[in-house]
Amino acid sequence: MFDKILIANRGEIALRILRAAKELGIQTVAVHSTADADAMHVRLADESVCIGPPPARESYLNIPALIAACEITGADAVHPGYGFLSENARFADMLEAHKIVFIGPRAEHIRIMGDKIEAKRTARRLGIPCVPGSDGGVSDETEAARIARDIGYPVIVKAAAGGGGRGMKVARDEEELAHAIATAKVEAKAAFGDDAVYLEKYLEKPRHIEIQILGDGRGNAIHLGERDCSLQRRHQKVWEEGPSPALNASMRSEIGETCAKAMRDLGYLGAGTVEFLYEDGQFYFIEMNTRIQVEHPVTEMITGIDLVHEQIKIAAGAALTTRQQDVRFSGHAIECRINAENALTFRPSPGQIKSYHPPGGLGVRVDSAAYQGYRIPPNYDSMIGKLIVTGRTRNECLMRLRRALDEFVVDGVDTTLPLFRALVRNADIQNGAYDIHWLEQYLAQDPPIEAVG
Ligand code: ADP
Repeated sequence: MFDKILIANRGEIALRILRAAKELGIQTVAVHSTADADAMHVRLADESVCIGPPPARESYLNIPALIAACEITGADAVHPGYGFLSENARFADMLEAHKIVFIGPRAEHIRIMGDKIEAKRTARRLGIPCVPGSDGGVSDETEAARIARDIGYPVIVKAAAGGGGRGMKVARDEEELAHAIATAKVEAKAAFGDDAVYLEKYLEKPRHIEIQILGDGRGNAIHLGERDCSLQRRHQKVWEEGPSPALNASMRSEIGETCAKAMRDLGYLGAGTVEFLYEDGQFYFIEMNTRIQVEHPVTEMITGIDLVHEQIKIAAGAALTTRQQDVRFSGHAIECRINAENALTFRPSPGQIKSYHPPGGLGVRVDSAAYQGYRIPPNYDSMIGKLIVTGRTRNECLMRLRRALDEFVVDGVDTTLPLFRALVRNADIQNGAYDIHWLEQYLAQDPPIEAVG
């Protein structure tokens, strides 16, 4: 096992990893930018190192500074969390060259899945069903138009290097296609430095359902069921739950086993998520994330398996000890991403938290690095915490979520709590009757959330 883990991240996920490391008896090193000197993960870690100024490219994305921090502190492994360098194969390679373990998959698998064209090709080869689309990238309009005619409009143009919902454009006919390709390329180049794009059939009313998997790189891999992340704004997840209101046990084990088998064949090591769109009883692979995800607690709460413990143990060379038949799904879990944003305009609201009172009680988990007096810096993502609630049934979970949201006090900055207070009372949400477009349609109604105040 490792002696000391350096956590190459910030915010709630840094704290989450720190907790797992402590529970495994491992020393922790926090890193931080100058904007995060008073952050909770820094206070709670055994040691901390300042790695640069506020802009992420000079601190949390600064590979030489991170490697130097490992060397100064003697850390023998790095957990990258999500975002930042978590899916950067070069970072994994460089750590390996310095004899530091990257807590994540092999660089080769990060590379494959980081290129969405390559990822789809690999998924298809491994027997995972994919969204119909171009086999590889599309370069010229004539070729794109021919492919789009084949798969049928509407189509979506997506960036091969995409992430965070950026670089995606929908085209409903040939005229729109040329424009969609041009703008997606510009956006992709600006966001990812790579303008390769590909085409997919645009699904009109799918759900986003993803499968959590764990592999030990020795040919063992299991699945831990699904999370339904259909409630999205600008292709970004807002509310996640498991099990999905749309699946039953046999559908779960069928798609789960397809993914687990694919990961066994690939020799995948670590935690990963295979993401699908699900429409009319069919699953369509869209991408795979080779890291821990924001919404991982949903799976932890219904399986009782600590995913970060598992990541650390697997990275240290342990074989999977949980067999598929030992995985038990129990109850229901819902996660709400609480952002420091105005709940109507979604404008970020950095600043000082004047008072903070998180909810508690049976079945309530708050993963957050916020505290009373904490100053949210304007430099990073606006998510300040996650509220995860469980119940024996979905209905019990919804009632508990309602009271937990009503208890939650965050004063001094705007938050998205009022949005969730409205959602939990909405009939479609209560019935589980929503697809990936539901939330944006709901938000377009006026006024969506005033009623709750
Ligand atoms: P990113 O890596 O940027 O998150 P994804 O490929 O995971 O991109 O897609 C993010 C979201 O975009 C999906 O959850 C879904 O809402 C939407 N989306 C992606 N592909 C399609 C498609 N073919 N049809 C309809 N919606 C799509």
